[in-house]
Parts: sequence; structure tokens; C-alpha cells
Amino acid sequence: MQSDATGPGKATRAARNVMKALETTCLVLFLAQLPTWLVVGLWLWRRQERAARRGDVPTCACCGYDLRATPDRCPECGAPA
Ligand SMILES: [Zn+2]
Repeated sequence: MQSDATGPGKATRAARNVMKALETTCLVLFLAQLPTWLVVGLWLWRRQERAARRGDVPTCACCGYDLRATPDRCPECGAPA
């Protein structure tokens, strides 16, 4: 028995093409958002650095760790703030 244009072999090939197109689309969408997240990460990092330089963020005198969450003692080195 030979499979014609509507046979199971043809359907499998079409499904494989759809899966390949979906994989490519997902990969492209994933790679396209990476520059955006890089820019957002740089912006957040620069904003925190600027705030720390201005003195808005309390930092540890020993290691410079951000003490906003634990104002009494540095969780990084244990020094009292
Ligand atoms: Zn510290």
C-alpha cells in the first residue's frame, strides 16, 4: 500500500514542518528579547550605583554591602552598621 498526498507520511512531514517553524519562531522571540533585558539590567545597575554614590543607600563601611534590608548588621561580613 502506497501513501498518497493525504496519507500518514505526508501528514507527519507537514507536522514536522510546523514543529520546525514553531521552534524557529520561539528561538527568534527568545533571542530578540535579550538586548532589551541587557538594557534594562544596565539601567537598574546604573541607577543603583548612582544612588549609592549619592549616599541614598546605606552601605556597610567594611565591604560596601547594601544595608537597606538589614540596617543593624551587615549580612555579608557581620559588621555592625
Ligand atoms: Zn559588610
